[in-house]
Amino acid sequence: MWKTMKNSDNIQLSYKYKIYPSREVEKKLLRVMQIEASVYNALLDAVEKARKERKQITSRDTQNMLKYLKIDGKELVYSKVLQMVNNQLWYNINALYGLKKKGKKVGKIRHKKIMNIINYNQSGFKVQGNKLILSKIGEMKVLFHRPLEGEVKGVIIKKSAKGWYAIFQVEVEKKPLERTGKVVGIDLGVKNLVTTSDGIVIENPNIFDMVENRIKKLQKFLSRKKSESRNYEKVRNKLAKIHEYVKNLINDYIHKVTSWLVEQYDEIYVEDLGVKEMVERGKSKTLRKHILHSNFSKFVSYLSYKAERAGRRVVKVDPYNTSKRCAKCGYIKKDLTLADRVFVCPKCGWTVDRDYNASLNILHTGSGLPVEPVDRKPMLYIPFSEGVYSKFPARSRKFSPQGGDTPSVRTG
Ligand SMILES: [Zn+2]
Repeated sequence: MWKTMKNSDNIQLSYKYKIYPSREVEKKLLRVMQIEASVYNALLDAVEKARKERKQITSRDTQNMLKYLKIDGKELVYSKVLQMVNNQLWYNINALYGLKKKGKKVGKIRHKKIMNIINYNQSGFKVQGNKLILSKIGEMKVLFHRPLEGEVKGVIIKKSAKGWYAIFQVEVEKKPLERTGKVVGIDLGVKNLVTTSDGIVIENPNIFDMVENRIKKLQKFLSRKKSESRNYEKVRNKLAKIHEYVKNLINDYIHKVTSWLVEQYDEIYVEDLGVKEMVERGKSKTLRKHILHSNFSKFVSYLSYKAERAGRRVVKVDPYNTSKRCAKCGYIKKDLTLADRVFVCPKCGWTVDRDYNASLNILHTGSGLPVEPVDRKPMLYIPFSEGVYSKFPARSRKFSPQGGDTPSVRTG
C-alpha cells in the first residue's frame, strides 16, 4: 500500500550516512521518538479494542484517527511522520498475522517506550550542501562519505549505539553495463562466501570469529554486574559498538563482492534462500547461524538490486540436491553431510570441492545449459583482505597464479 510507483527506467536505493545533530536538535529527535511511541501505542490500543468488539478496522481507519488523537506534544511532530508510524504499526500487525498463518507461535504486538526511527516520506525534508533540514526539528550536519545521487524520496532518521544516521531513499536511473557474454552459477557458503562455476573462490571473512572472544568476555562481565551501575552501561555500550563495527565491515565487504560479480557476469544463478532456509529450519538456532543467514539474504538482495540497475539478471534456483548431485554424471549422493568438504562421486569417481560442485549444479539447474566440469580445484582465490581493503580487481583468470587459461567449465 505504501510502495511507491516504480518507473521501469528507475530503481530505488537507500544510502546511509552518519549525521551530527547538535545537543538541542538531538533532544528534539528523542522527544519526537517518544511522542511517536505514544501515538503508536494509542493506535495499537484502538486496533485491539476494535478486534475485541469484533469490529472491522483498517489502516485507513487508524490513519484517520491521527487527527483526533489527544497525545502530549503531538503538534511537535510533522504530520507525515505520524502517518508513517501508522504504517509501521500495520506492517507489524500484518507481519505477525503472516507468521501466525504459517503456523508459527507468535506473541502479541507490544507497546513501545520509544520508536527507533523517524520517517520523513515524500516531504518535510531538504538537503542543503552538507546539511539536512527537517521540518519541525531543524538542521543537522551530514557526513556524505560517498556522494548522494538520484532524487531523494524520503529520509529515515535512526539512532544506534554509534550515534545518529540518516538513510536517504533515492530513485536513480538505471545504468546498463556492457555485456560480457559470461554467465555463472554461485554457491554461498560458510567457509568461502562465494564459489563460482568458473572456479573463483571468495573468502568468507568470519569477522564474527575475530571478535567472538571479546564479545563473550564483555557478555560475561555484564552478567555479573548490576544493571543500574555506571560500569554496566559503559560495557553494554562497548558491546553494541563491536556489534555495529562487525555489521559495517561485513556490509562493506558484501557491497564489494556483489558489485564485482555484477560487473563480471550478464547472468548470475544463485540458490533460492527462502526455500533453502525452510529446509534447514530447526538446525540453525545459534547466533552465528542467524548472522550467517541474514548475511546471505543481504548478499542476494544487494546482488539483485545492483543487477537490476546494471541491466543484468539474477536468477534464483531451487536448491534441491544442488550439493548432493554429482555435476559430472548426475548421481545423487544421499549420505553427503555438511561436514564433507570434498565431493567424491561413488559412481563416476569424480573428486571435487563440495561448493564448486554445487555451483555447477546451480548453473545447470537454473540455466539448463550443459556444464562440463574439469578435474581441478577452483583456481583463483580472493582473500578477504584483498576484497575489503581495495576494489575487487577485474582480473581475468589468465593472471591467476595457479591456473592456466583453460576455463574450468564450458557452457552452451
Ligand atoms: Zn559422478
